[in-house]
Amino acid sequence: QAVAAKVSAAYGVAVNSATSALHLACRALDLGPGDWLWTSPNTFVASANCARYCGARVDFVDIDPDTYNLSVEALATKLEQAKQNGRLPKILIPVHFAGQPCDMAAIAPLAERYGFKIIEDASHAIGARCDGEPVGACRHSDITVFSFHPVKLITTGEGGLATTNDPELAERMARLRSHGITRDPARMRTDSGQPMLHHAALGESVSAKPRLGEPVLHASTDPWYYQQLELGYNYRMTDIQAALGHSQLQRLDDYIARRHALAKRYDRLLADLPVQTPYQDPRHHSALHLYPIQVTDDETRHHAFQALRDAGIGVNVHYIPVHRQPDYQRFGFAKGDFPVAEAYYRRAISLPLYPSLTEAQQDIVCQRLGEALS
Ligand SMILES: *Cc1c(COP(=O)(O)O)cnc(C)c1O
Repeated sequence: QAVAAKVSAAYGVAVNSATSALHLACRALDLGPGDWLWTSPNTFVASANCARYCGARVDFVDIDPDTYNLSVEALATKLEQAKQNGRLPKILIPVHFAGQPCDMAAIAPLAERYGFKIIEDASHAIGARCDGEPVGACRHSDITVFSFHPVKLITTGEGGLATTNDPELAERMARLRSHGITRDPARMRTDSGQPMLHHAALGESVSAKPRLGEPVLHASTDPWYYQQLELGYNYRMTDIQAALGHSQLQRLDDYIARRHALAKRYDRLLADLPVQTPYQDPRHHSALHLYPIQVTDDETRHHAFQALRDAGIGVNVHYIPVHRQPDYQRFGFAKGDFPVAEAYYRRAISLPLYPSLTEAQQDIVCQRLGEALS
């Protein structure tokens, strides 16, 4: 509830990871065999894997060379082709890469026109604003998913959360989070699949008269009674995790302000180096989960990365394009399928960015980077 309130959404469903939240979101939107889900290739594998858990197929939309988010132009083109092939997606997952919101106002009319649902993967973007509104408010989407993994903006150790404004989607995700079980008499069904409530209200025995040896189905008014309505999971967040998350949430705004101060400082310190610093879309307010720079070519990337790691600096690379993973080759994806994401990847290094990073440490990062690039 605290997260939902923070991001101006009606409902929040807390779970044990963003991966689980993505899976529940796909299930709640009835993704299944024969369906397609599209996402960005420049993301963590979880944004795509959720479709495969549901037996659906995955495809990707190449990224924008400035924002590194899914390109809306590429999406529009691909949708028009897919319409001709009868392969339109049921769900699109825009990923707010590095904390920078996707252009949701431009994506929403496409969802309307081509009839797909939207799950925002905001694993990098709690606290970000999209066109002035908090990411997670689901203004232009059905569901938004956050991650509280230790590397993310705020953490619960492991954890995730889905927000939505749709009471039915919230109910369905909450039910699937815990085995598909309900304790709400209004949701229960008789053996013949009829709603149970009016039977119980009439004081009737709900099930047909049990034959010998058959279990007795009790009336929905019995205080111990619950029903499994569909196959769910144990994806619950523990109270201990939630307590940590609640305390972390109070610090979110300070964390993001600090990230912005540090990113501006990086922009200045790197201005004379042969690197491209991350573009910030002025319409949005990034959560700045990552500070990904582009160096001149893949050899330079390799060298600079190694030099920084050797100096004890925790650089990383986000992301190996998902379609290049061995487990995705079986679907026919190949090198060159999403050239912008692949070119971005070859030159990418994420520099350390976290609230407790000091200016002195930042100076060392930039100095070592400068040496590696000279
Ligand atoms: C971290 C991450 C996930 C998965 O989050 P978990 O909480 O570890 O399951 C999904 N998508 C993106 C973009 C992520 O960065």
